[in-house]
Amino acid sequence: MDNCLGVKKLECIICGENTFPGLVILGEAICYSCEKKVAITGVEEDSYPFYLERIKRIWEAPLEF
Ligand SMILES: [Zn+2]
Repeated sequence: MDNCLGVKKLECIICGENTFPGLVILGEAICYSCEKKVAITGVEEDSYPFYLERIKRIWEAPLEF
């Protein structure tokens, strides 16, 4: 599909699904289900470093203000 309107396709940075109109933080999108998963994932769980790594990308991405 041609994206002629300049609307960025929002892919969840965690699961890669198209998450529009999901949560967008600093230009990066997280779908609602992943946001919930991150919120309930404890530090001691195996998947926590995975989520943390994905979310860290948001803060490390160049800011465009
Ligand atoms: Zn997701």
